[in-house]
Amino acid sequence: MILPKYKEWFVQVEVTDIDQKANKLTDEAYQKIDCLSCGKCCRSTVTTFDEEDITKASKYLLLSRKEFIKKYLILDLDNTFTTVSVPCPMLDLDNNKCRIYEARPKSCASFPHTYRPHFMRRKKAHLENSRFCPITQYVLDGLLNDT
Ligand code: SF4
Ligand code: SF4
Repeated sequence: MILPKYKEWFVQVEVTDIDQKANKLTDEAYQKIDCLSCGKCCRSTVTTFDEEDITKASKYLLLSRKEFIKKYLILDLDNTFTTVSVPCPMLDLDNNKCRIYEARPKSCASFPHTYRPHFMRRKKAHLENSRFCPITQYVLDGLLNDT
């Protein structure tokens, strides 16, 4: 569930230097929150793979492009490849480790996107991610308390 406090904040907020503040809060969040004890992003959402991601991940797993797609991906209606199931089939459910960590797709590497420039252009994504991601919640709480 998206918390109304975040929704309301996004509608009325005017924070200066928001990217800088979000970066600092993200650093703090990573000091406090251990992704390997969470794993909610890999367990609750599908992930997109572009051509470059497919090439990199399939090479990493010593599979052909075709084999990799057949095993792990599905072509969505909008012509985007996404993981075929949730939790992600490349997640080790015993320890929350990604089996292709060094070759994970760009969308995973930058998740939850709170380090990326133009923080406010991703309002919708941040709101969605705040439903399950403690790092996003930490960053939004920090920004909310700053205004
Ligand atoms: S590819 Fe790796 S990092 Fe990305 S969702 Fe799957 S397990 Fe998680
Ligand atoms: S949901 Fe957030 S805190 Fe949990 S593993 Fe993913 S990025 Fe880390």
